Amino acid sequence: MTGFRLTSFGAQASFAGVPERSIAEIGDARVVILGAPFDWGTTHRPGARFGPKAVREADYLDPDGERPHLDTGIDPLKVLRVVDVGDVPIIPGYVDESVDAIRHAVASVSRAGAVPLVIGGDHTITFPNAGGVADVHGFGEIALIHFDAHADTGDSHYGKLLGHGTPMRRLIESGAVPGHRFVQIGLRGYWPDPPVVAWMRTQGMRSFFMSEIVDRGLNAVVDDAVTHAADGAKGVFVSVDIDVVDPAAAPGTGTPEPGGLTSRQLLDTVRRLGRDLNVLGADVVEVSPAYDTSDITALLANRVILELLNGMAQRHLAG
Ligand code: MN
Ligand code: MN
Repeated sequence: MTGFRLTSFGAQASFAGVPERSIAEIGDARVVILGAPFDWGTTHRPGARFGPKAVREADYLDPDGERPHLDTGIDPLKVLRVVDVGDVPIIPGYVDESVDAIRHAVASVSRAGAVPLVIGGDHTITFPNAGGVADVHGFGEIALIHFDAHADTGDSHYGKLLGHGTPMRRLIESGAVPGHRFVQIGLRGYWPDPPVVAWMRTQGMRSFFMSEIVDRGLNAVVDDAVTHAADGAKGVFVSVDIDVVDPAAAPGTGTPEPGGLTSRQLLDTVRRLGRDLNVLGADVVEVSPAYDTSDITALLANRVILELLNGMAQRHLAG
């Protein structure tokens, strides 16, 4: 950073104070943060367009200092040479154009040899995010680990293809990520309806409901998730819908569903995935700050990103 930045309570320009770059200038960065302030795919409470700003600002450490993780001793921002390219220039209200802009930006980062890490935005953006990674690494070549209360496999969004309830269907139907390469964690509640759940089974999706996580324990489920995702794939895309966590710990989201994971469970799990799998892309979505309380949802999303980076840094250092 340059200039005067004496406090932690001024405006935060980049995630954790990492260098700000354009996509053309990412150099040897291994991870590139992008914001996607898009929420025109929401079906209930809007506001995730403010997610990237809130998640970047949910931080109180010195942006110029080191920040080694207390458990691993690693500063992943340095190890992985993380940079932030700011927000993708979406066009408010124009879904197709905005989704295309996101896909183009994500693919540009992948093509430059870095891992795109996208802060949403509603879950619509996982179609261009994982799609953009697949454009570079190959259709059918990457697995997708999807944390969510919801399956997001709806056939349509009020008769349209794009929305926050349909991205996983679009990824499967387009061939970018085949159903058998999907692992879903945390599903619960009252959606989707039985025909859609039946369709998910015919696609070979591996969906771990909260009930199974409670019965078997999260560690056993994550063991299976890692094995399934690693099987034959070049790498994985990790997509975290913050509503996978119980609304008691993540109220700032558009479609909260009671009875989810704890913050601790999500943080430990994403760190493990970063360590055990070859992460080629990731996103953290559905933070909607207007419904948040004391920034707890934005803080959680910020730490989800840091924990994933810590796992990736552990893997990198282990060679
Ligand atoms: Mn979702
Ligand atoms: Mn959800």
